[in-house]
Amino acid sequence: MRTPFIAGNWKMYKTVAETVKYVKEFRALVKDVDGVEIVVAPPFTAVRAAAEAARNSNVGIAAQDLHWEREGAFTGEVSGAMIREAGAEYVIVGHSERRTLFGESDASVNRKIAAACAAGLCPIVCIGETFDQRERQETFDVLDRQIKQGLDGLTSDRMAQLVVAYEPVWAIGTGRNATPEQAAEAHAHIRRRLRQWFGPDAAELCHVIYGGSVKPDNITSLMSQPEVDGALVGGASLDVRSFLEIVTKGRDARLR
Ligand code: PEP
Repeated sequence: MRTPFIAGNWKMYKTVAETVKYVKEFRALVKDVDGVEIVVAPPFTAVRAAAEAARNSNVGIAAQDLHWEREGAFTGEVSGAMIREAGAEYVIVGHSERRTLFGESDASVNRKIAAACAAGLCPIVCIGETFDQRERQETFDVLDRQIKQGLDGLTSDRMAQLVVAYEPVWAIGTGRNATPEQAAEAHAHIRRRLRQWFGPDAAELCHVIYGGSVKPDNITSLMSQPEVDGALVGGASLDVRSFLEIVTKGRDARLR
């Protein structure tokens, strides 16, 4: 059985001082919360401070993006090796805000996943359809393309360790979450494709989590779906108490 995986994406919020305060408070509150993997993703500038504040705790640290090269003349970019050295173990790749605002493509996502794995980081790979694509009943086609092109060339062993975040674009930061049934349907489709393209073992081990306006009052119904292995939480992860509630309720929903 897959351990529930709940990650907070802080986007461009929190200074180093705010990060340290949050992580110190949060690690104390979750120290006895087992049966769930917990991760927070601060901005690049706070990754090292977060990793130090979380040392020897059950809170893992992620970065929110990486460049695919190890080093080079890429002004403003940060490599997987640099992120790993700063103490993160995970990295978000292909978030819809990167895709829509910064021109991220399935091809760049693919290179970034390879770079993350090479640097010893676990990629949290975001996929999901826009509202118009859902309206046009293209959801499964979009997911297929993002999986096929984004994960192209990955071995089954690597695939088994990956976290795939199904994040319908229309649900991110809008307060409009997918219904548990919509999430379960998309997750089942994703796992079917992973089984087909990477084999049953990799598909069974890989986490498929949901993201898009997850809050303390909808996490239980989302995580009650056996296909939903966890959550990628944006806005509601910025507050310690709200994220704690999501983590504990999500874990409890799965234990029932
Ligand atoms: C996200 O940033 O991945 C996200 C899902 O944001 P929100 O929870 O705020 O919709």
